[in-house]
Amino acid sequence: MKPDPVAAQVRATAQAAGDWTALVEPMRGCTVCPELVAHRTQVVVDDAPAGARLLLMGEAPGATEDETGRPFVGRSGQLLDRLLADVGLDRHRVAVLNTAKCRPPGNRPPTRVESGRCRGWTERQLDLLQPSVVVPLGLSATRWFLGPTTLTAARGRVHEVGGRSVLPTYHPSAALRWGPGGGEPERLLREDLAAAAAL
Ligand code: SF4
Repeated sequence: MKPDPVAAQVRATAQAAGDWTALVEPMRGCTVCPELVAHRTQVVVDDAPAGARLLLMGEAPGATEDETGRPFVGRSGQLLDRLLADVGLDRHRVAVLNTAKCRPPGNRPPTRVESGRCRGWTERQLDLLQPSVVVPLGLSATRWFLGPTTLTAARGRVHEVGGRSVLPTYHPSAALRWGPGGGEPERLLREDLAAAAAL
């Protein structure tokens, strides 16, 4: 894929932000993905409690996130909160980001161009938050860190990426799709969150 000058511009703006407040302001006003801008209610900047050492990374906001401006507050978020509590983690002390900050229409995945443009914002968020452990939720977020791979190949072990421990796992929506009880995806998601908590 040819270099995208717009992505480079986003990255330069993000890198120039010296702290979280300075980063959030231009991020909230970002308009570089026309289709997402036409359909979104707002940019979902993410949850970033001070001093969080664990970061969970999803793909993109859904309808409830778009309405409320917070990541993982719909059904997937409620399941995530329950599983975090199961393994002794307090959601209020965990950072939660998405690789793309605006809701794609019809809940389609972000395109490669959209993901590439938003990457600059997300990389700067990671720089400023400095989490020591990151849990990508689902394949898209896993590939954001590891490049081309499958979830089967990537989950179940710790990857060292940029000085951070990265533990890929299922997206909570996989457990919701399974049906009552969440099946194997919910069991493995809980197991992986417990491993992250232990780190
Ligand atoms: S998805 Fe990211 S890069 Fe695209 S408009 Fe939203 S904030 Fe900007």
